[in-house]
Amino acid sequence: MKKNQKFTEAELQHFYDLLDESLTPYDCGKLCAPKNGGEPLCCSVENAVPMLYREEFEYVSRRSELWHRWKPKTEVDKKQKREDETEVLIFCECKGIAHCERENRSICCRTFPLEPYLDKSGELVGLIFMREFRNKCPLMTRLPDIKQRVIDKHFEFWTLMLAKKGDELDLYKATSRGWRISATKRGVKLPILVPSHLKATKKSA
Ligand code: SF4
Ligand code: SF4
Repeated sequence: MKKNQKFTEAELQHFYDLLDESLTPYDCGKLCAPKNGGEPLCCSVENAVPMLYREEFEYVSRRSELWHRWKPKTEVDKKQKREDETEVLIFCECKGIAHCERENRSICCRTFPLEPYLDKSGELVGLIFMREFRNKCPLMTRLPDIKQRVIDKHFEFWTLMLAKKGDELDLYKATSRGWRISATKRGVKLPILVPSHLKATKKSA
């Protein structure tokens, strides 16, 4: 298994730059907020607790007070924190949508609801929806709305990230396998968002 290497400040800022642009030409929060108490679904800790890279949390904490470590209240949440935090990622919570600072959004805020898709040989070939949110985030039914330029930049980010974090590479190999199994069972095509350079070579999963 590949080792985990720490990101430098320069790398983290580069990632923030790559992931700066909104996924769609419109504010997608307006699609889900009406059914979520007026807040974007992915900005409520009740729906998704953000995970930050440990060095990212240190980096963003030096420039802002937006983030703090997540403090679980229920036994279920405490168990989740114990079991799911790793040497790479920790659960964090922001001050909420009313206090969001665009430049200090975390990597997971910026990539949501997409993650990398790796083919059978373990090669990164595109982006795909986070499976656990495919029935919750309205963008799943609006994939053509996701900007190609953004897909290309996210692909660049994941290429750099997966080269340094062995744990994440293993995780996404496993989630991609899960997508393949469920798509085969349901007899459907995988909803992969392919970057421009792979479209050009007609390479697909
Ligand atoms: S990414 Fe999905 S869940 Fe998040 S604000 Fe946009 S539509 Fe809502
Ligand atoms: S930092 Fe902003 S984008 Fe990220 S979860 Fe908080 S409110 Fe949402």
